[in-house]
Amino acid sequence: MTQKPLVFIISAPSGSGKSTLTSDLLKLVPNLEFSISYTTRSPRGSEQDGKQYHFIRMEEFDRMARDGEFLEFANVHGNCYGTARRYLREAGKNGHDLLLDIDVQGAAHIKQTLTDAISIFVLPPDRQTLEWRLRNRSEDREEVIQRRLVNASREISEYDKYDYVLINDKLEIACEKLRAIVLSERLRRSPLPRSEEDKKKIEVAECCRLANVRAKVQPILASFRGEGPPAHL
Ligand code: ADP
Ligand code: 5GP
Repeated sequence: MTQKPLVFIISAPSGSGKSTLTSDLLKLVPNLEFSISYTTRSPRGSEQDGKQYHFIRMEEFDRMARDGEFLEFANVHGNCYGTARRYLREAGKNGHDLLLDIDVQGAAHIKQTLTDAISIFVLPPDRQTLEWRLRNRSEDREEVIQRRLVNASREISEYDKYDYVLINDKLEIACEKLRAIVLSERLRRSPLPRSEEDKKKIEVAECCRLANVRAKVQPILASFRGEGPPAHL
């Protein structure tokens, strides 16, 4: 029987640690499928076709777009990326939920069509850390890193369009919070009574809700505007 999957959208400026977090999450949470996007960009480092992305040529991307095979698609950093409809169908058939790793334009588009989708924005602790992570990943040329940093400043200003905001400082902690968000959204829809453990998960997730993180986000935004921390810190 096909059931409506919960759709989790995760967005972040490149280098924030989104891929690291999603791959850890998929190992920790059962019945969660990853929507492997289609892209016209070349594979990076150890990336494999059909694992992180389906790497396709522009002609094939155009054909898929024309044939309505994408739920959404966008041009990001000069390359095309698209979410295939079939992942949503398959997750529904399998009784699983679906995780989308897409940019802010894609997230806005999905929210219009799938209004129940749950959106999560991942932020780095500050601009300097983001730059360090992009360089340390050693997978992009300098000009690409510079372009991603410029785009990051624009993308982070969109954080307040998301349901949850996750600051990826210590990886283990961020991963635990991400897991709590997914589990708490499932619990919210479950008729079963909640255990103490369930209640703790919901509490952890609530701390990441947009309304509860606004103050923590301000110094991060300031670092992207080139401002240092306030004098009293
Ligand atoms: P994104 O998918 O957002 O572009 P990645 O997951 O590729 O980012 O992470 C960028 C780099 O930062 C990688 O080298 C990754 O190992 C590292 N990284 C991710 N999260 C953390 C963290 N919390 N602390 C330190 N390094 C991290
Ligand atoms: P990267 O090239 O670093 O893997 O990804 C660049 C950006 O494209 C990231 O913000 C990522 O979330 C986004 N992205 C990946 N797949 C899709 C997709 O299918 N649709 C949209 N709109 N963005 C995507």
